Amino acid sequence: MFTIAKAKPERGIWASDQPTLSAPGRGMVMVDVIAAGICGTDYHIFAWDQWSAGRIKTPMTIGHEFVGRISAIGEDVTGFEVGERVSAECHIACGQCALCRTGNAHICEKTQIIGVDVPGAFAEQVLVPATNLWKVPDAIPNKHAAVFDPVGNAMHMVSIADVTSKDVLIVGGGPIGLFAAAIAKAHGARTVTLQEPNQSRGAIASSLGLDLVVNPRDPDCVSNILDVTGGRGPNVVLEVSGNGAALNAALDIAAPGSLVALLGIPGGPVSLDLGGKVVMKGISLVGVTGRRMFETWFQVEAFMLKNPDLIDKVVTHVLPAKEFDRGFQLMDDGACGKVVLDFQTSELREVV
Ligand SMILES: [Zn+2]
Ligand SMILES: [Zn+2]
Repeated sequence: MFTIAKAKPERGIWASDQPTLSAPGRGMVMVDVIAAGICGTDYHIFAWDQWSAGRIKTPMTIGHEFVGRISAIGEDVTGFEVGERVSAECHIACGQCALCRTGNAHICEKTQIIGVDVPGAFAEQVLVPATNLWKVPDAIPNKHAAVFDPVGNAMHMVSIADVTSKDVLIVGGGPIGLFAAAIAKAHGARTVTLQEPNQSRGAIASSLGLDLVVNPRDPDCVSNILDVTGGRGPNVVLEVSGNGAALNAALDIAAPGSLVALLGIPGGPVSLDLGGKVVMKGISLVGVTGRRMFETWFQVEAFMLKNPDLIDKVVTHVLPAKEFDRGFQLMDDGACGKVVLDFQTSELREVV
């Protein structure tokens, strides 16, 4: 079968021809992939940064955000049938530890990630534990169902921040920042501002009906954010850029008492005047990772059913899977929102 893999420990990503998978084992399900989103994580693996070099054992089929149809079911799996359309939570938590047993499986320390630690979904077939599957309602099209995972990251972050009636600043306009902006608006934020230096991404943000889209390189950036927030500055900051300088600037402009949620992963340690920017301002800093299992999934499904137009604006490209190079190039250039790969093109059916 056709797969997209990290074949060797250096920058790049390669097409790979792999044997079709053997029948799923106990508790496992085989899914024939219809479509899969390229995630920032896949881009890190492509670029072979410090994190991916330390974590990935090559060769590894990558990809973890996907939709597909169940093609085989292992022993002891109940509640699923061959032919059902599913997505899946990509974090395979242990289910046994104190975190898993207290509703915190998203931070289980024994988590294995599909497409990072075990073979992924950039393939015609993928094996997934049945407990990770999410049945997709018929009304959600494939190109939306393929991105449950990143919409879930955004939903998790917005939910933690409790944005209703707040002035929200989103730092970073990649797909998760764009989804977060749309969700914050739908969740009743007083104002939503998105900050992004890349013009293509800024243009996508502008199409979402936000209160303000700013370029941090614009000298009027800070005064524009103050204007839209009544001079107070934002009281919720959602940091998805992973950029230390952008975080510092956001802490400067955040109102005292703000909640600052961090989802972007910096490439290394970040220097911060904790005393002046956090302690003395009474700022709450909170890290956000993954999705709550499965509270976030219920929220995402409801959001997708009600707001297909917003998801459509962020999913800017659906490419045949064999053109994955183009997808990674688009991400390199920042010339896209979410890029989805279509794994059904061999059957001449288009992902919709
Ligand atoms: Zn992802
Ligand atoms: Zn666990």
